[in-house]
Amino acid sequence: MPSKTKLYGSFLLLTGLLLLAYGLPPRYDYSPPKPFHGQGWYNPFEGESLRWSRANFHIHSRTWGGLTEGRQSPPEIQAAYQKLGFAWIGISDYQQVNPQSPIPLYEHGWSVKKVHQLCFWPKEVVWVDFPLPQTRGMKQAILARLRPTTPFLVLAHPHFLHSYSGSDLAQLGGYDAVEVLNRYGDSVAEWDSALSSGHYAPILAHDNVHDVTNPHELMSRWTEVALPAGASQEALQEALRAGRTVGYKNRTPAPITSAYPQLARVAFTGETLLVQLTFPADSLRLIGQGGKVRAVAYQTDRLAYLPQPSDTYLRLEAFTAAVELYASPLVRGHPARRGIPPVAWGATLLQWLLVALPGLWLTGIGVRKLFVRRARPTSATQ
Ligand SMILES: [Zn+2]
Repeated sequence: MPSKTKLYGSFLLLTGLLLLAYGLPPRYDYSPPKPFHGQGWYNPFEGESLRWSRANFHIHSRTWGGLTEGRQSPPEIQAAYQKLGFAWIGISDYQQVNPQSPIPLYEHGWSVKKVHQLCFWPKEVVWVDFPLPQTRGMKQAILARLRPTTPFLVLAHPHFLHSYSGSDLAQLGGYDAVEVLNRYGDSVAEWDSALSSGHYAPILAHDNVHDVTNPHELMSRWTEVALPAGASQEALQEALRAGRTVGYKNRTPAPITSAYPQLARVAFTGETLLVQLTFPADSLRLIGQGGKVRAVAYQTDRLAYLPQPSDTYLRLEAFTAAVELYASPLVRGHPARRGIPPVAWGATLLQWLLVALPGLWLTGIGVRKLFVRRARPTSATQ
């Protein structure tokens, strides 16, 4: 049985480490939400004709000796998606860039609450993470660490285990896009929170497949990019950043093989926004500030709307029996993104003093009680 001293030492060590983990990460000075504003509109789909190519950037292959989920090898995965006409495939193994992935990327994160990020075209793989439930400061610190290592940084599945809340997305800075649709949880409300705060975050949608032979997984969600299939990866990167993307959710139990509505034209005629689809949908709607419905149309392939002064962003949704369509937003002014906020040094120093320093002290005592043997007092001479 462990001695009382050992038990006491373990308790002090764990408490100390916990205080250090939560006391050390910096605090940030988040700027208040600043909804999109300006006279003109930024329209990512501007142009005469739109050509679409299909993409999925969240795929897990068999790796890490089977420790992580993922059943197939990259060639088997590629074959499955090529059969379905996908132009862009990214294998997003955890904490490593798969050399056989056509688009180089990886999924960062090993925390219990699955606060994950998709890092595209990374310069390095970052192992730093906070394994316990993360404070907003910790989430921001991770984005600050990842930001210089990747040109396209995506918050993965925010709704999954509530890894990122809507208010997180409204305050954090340094991310480029949101994975709004994911088989483990769709995050439409969280996305609207980001957009309402004035942060330009285009949509990505992925099936997060672990087994490509399971028809319920494969193509349950996917992204369409307004880009010809043979374009360069530089052009793909530019299109993703610019928000030339539409996310789809499959409402049927198997991959979609029939035609489904795509955006044919998104343009202003005078002051009026005109959206046209390639096929009629059961319903079409425009969503704006605060996630509010701004316009609806039924059994049609088009919708016209005169934006009001209170409209800061507008994004399109369309619904058929087979699919749900979510387009990246049009925004007033410029597609601005918040950068990494400055560190709030006053609050950080106070936190170091009140939390981290006592943590260090307790850790020290814990280590001494557990590992440093006390010299036995030498017995007195007889
Ligand atoms: Zn994940």
